[in-house]
Amino acid sequence: MSEQFHNSDFKVNIHAPWRIEYINMLNEQQPGCFLCRTRDETDRDAENLLLWRTDNCIVVMNRFPYSAGHLLIAPAEHIGELADLDDEVLLEMMQLARDAQKLLARSIRAEGFNIGVNVGRCAGAGLPEHLHMHVVPRWNGDTNYMAVLGDVRVVSQSLTELYQQLREASVELKLPGVG
Ligand SMILES: [Zn+2]
Repeated sequence: MSEQFHNSDFKVNIHAPWRIEYINMLNEQQPGCFLCRTRDETDRDAENLLLWRTDNCIVVMNRFPYSAGHLLIAPAEHIGELADLDDEVLLEMMQLARDAQKLLARSIRAEGFNIGVNVGRCAGAGLPEHLHMHVVPRWNGDTNYMAVLGDVRVVSQSLTELYQQLREASVELKLPGVG
């Protein structure tokens, strides 16, 4: 692994041990795969913060974001390993990462991004059985701000508003996956 990767800000985002405990607690309260549930509840996209549906993927706002606008790109199918995904689906995921970047840059003026996949629970995957790519928007000088935003109670109040904003921007930008 390169020196550059070690020195990146990515560590700052990943190191939030309290967060995984919180997510695990919620998973126990509502068992089953939340990505599959979100995929299947086609009449509850707004409640589930589902932003886009494409041929093979769904794009969902993270309810426990590292920063406002943190998105998850997942294959529609319940698959946990990159090796088990078809090329078509892998390509679509990267195209969606590109489109998500465009959306977040235009809509909430994100200045940088952390884009990555946590494979396995030891690597920080909250839901290792259903692969998902994180797209975390960043802003210059946001490190301290992030610590504040990392508090679930602070972020959750604005999730619905942000969802509406991102939906409208998606339509404006003619991004795939919106009605
Ligand atoms: Zn699933």
